[in-house]
Amino acid sequence: MIPGKRSIELFQRATRCIPGGVNSPVRAFRAVGGTPFLVKSARGACVEDEDGHVLLDFVGSWGPLILGHAHPRVAEAIHQAVDRGTTYGALCRQEIELAEQVVSAYPGLEQVRFVSSGTEATMSAIRLARGATSRDLIVKFAGCYHGHADHLLVSAGSGLVTFGQPSSAGVPAQFAAQTLVLPLDDEAALRDLFEQRGEQIAAVIIEPMPANNGLLLQRPEFLQALRELTREHGSLLIFDEVISGFRIARGGAAERFGITPDLATFGKVIGGGMPVGAFGGREELMSHLAPLGPVYQAGTLSGNPVAMAAGLATLETLSEERGWERLEALGAELEALVTPVLEARGWPCRLVRCGSVFWLSPGPGEPARSAEAIDEKAAERYAPLFQGLLERGISLAPSAYEVGFLSLAHERRHLEQFAAALSEVL
Ligand code: PMP
Repeated sequence: MIPGKRSIELFQRATRCIPGGVNSPVRAFRAVGGTPFLVKSARGACVEDEDGHVLLDFVGSWGPLILGHAHPRVAEAIHQAVDRGTTYGALCRQEIELAEQVVSAYPGLEQVRFVSSGTEATMSAIRLARGATSRDLIVKFAGCYHGHADHLLVSAGSGLVTFGQPSSAGVPAQFAAQTLVLPLDDEAALRDLFEQRGEQIAAVIIEPMPANNGLLLQRPEFLQALRELTREHGSLLIFDEVISGFRIARGGAAERFGITPDLATFGKVIGGGMPVGAFGGREELMSHLAPLGPVYQAGTLSGNPVAMAAGLATLETLSEERGWERLEALGAELEALVTPVLEARGWPCRLVRCGSVFWLSPGPGEPARSAEAIDEKAAERYAPLFQGLLERGISLAPSAYEVGFLSLAHERRHLEQFAAALSEVL
C-alpha cells in the first residue's frame, strides 16, 4: 500500500508542526484524497518513499528537474560550489555566466535579474512594468497562475471583463481591483478591454503556455493579438515562462511560438532544482530598477552561487545533449503510447502535450483552451485514476489540474510502464 506505515506516521507528525503538514498546499493530496507519501531520496526518473517504494515520477518537482533527479553533473556542480561557500551577498562570476546564458537564449532579452522563486520574479516584473509605464492596472487571465503575490492572487468575477476579486483571504479588495481578469482564448473580450481602458493598463501577464489549470494550449492568433494590442496601447506584455522557459525550447514559448514579449519571468528549470527565479527584458526597461532607477527590488540570497551553479550545469547539459530535441521526441513517444490506451478503454480524456509537458485533458471533444471549458467532472474522475496509478508505482501530480513533466532521465521503457499501468487502471 502506498502510502506505507512510515509515510503515514511521518505525515501525522508533520501536521502537528506544519500547517496541513506541508509547505505548499497541493502536496497534502487534498484534491485526490488520502495521505501523501514522503520522499526519502530520488534519482533519475524515480523517487523512493520512506517505506522503500520506488515510484516512477512524472511530477519532477513540478517542473525544475528537466534532467531528472540528482543528475550527476548538476550534483557535482553543487558540491563544488558549496565547497567555495554557500552565499556571499556580493557579486560572483556564476551570476554573470548564468545571466549571459539566459540573455543569449531568450528572444529580445538584454538584461536579467535573479531572484529566489517564480513568485518573486512575477511580483518584481509587475512592479517594474508599473514603474516604467507610470500606470497601475494589470491584466491577467482566468486559469493562469503567477505565484502568490497579492495582486496576482485574483480570480475573475462574473461577466467577461471583470475587476478582479481576491482568490485568497488576506488580499485586500482594493489590491485585487488593480488587476483585471479576462478569459483565455477570447480575442473579442481582449479588444473590448483595450478599447475601454487601454491607456491605463501597465501590463498584461500571461503564461504563453498556460499549464497551471490543465494545459490550455492557446491559438497562435490569440497570442499575436495580445502582442499587437499591448504594443498599440503602450502596455507591456509579460510572458510568465516559469514553467515554459528553457522547457519547451531553449528560448521558451517566445521562441517556440515566435512572439517576443517586453518582459519575461523564469523559474524552475533555470535553477536546476535550486531556488531560483528571474525576470528580464530590454535594457531600457530593466534600467528602471534600483540602483539605476526608481523601482526598488532586492534579495539577500538573490544570485546565490550554489543555485547559479546548478542552473548553469542544467542549461549547459541541455545544450550539449540536444536536450530539447530529445524531450520533444520523448513527448511524441508518450503521446503515441498513451493515446491508443485512452481510446481502447473509451476513457473520456485526451493526452494534450507541448514538448515534454503533458496533461490528460478531460472530456470528449476538442481539448480545452480556457479554464471555463474544462469538463466539470475532471477532478472526480481523476482521483481514482491517480490512486490506481500510484498503487502501480506511477506518480502523477496529485490534482486533475496539474500537468506532468518528462525529463531526460525518462526512457522508452518508463513510458511503456506508464501506458501499461494506465491501461490496467482504466
Ligand atoms: N508562474 C508560474 C507559471 C508558475 O507555474 C509558478 C509555480 N508553479 C509560479 C509563477 C510561482 O513560482 P514559485 O512557486 O517558484 O514561487
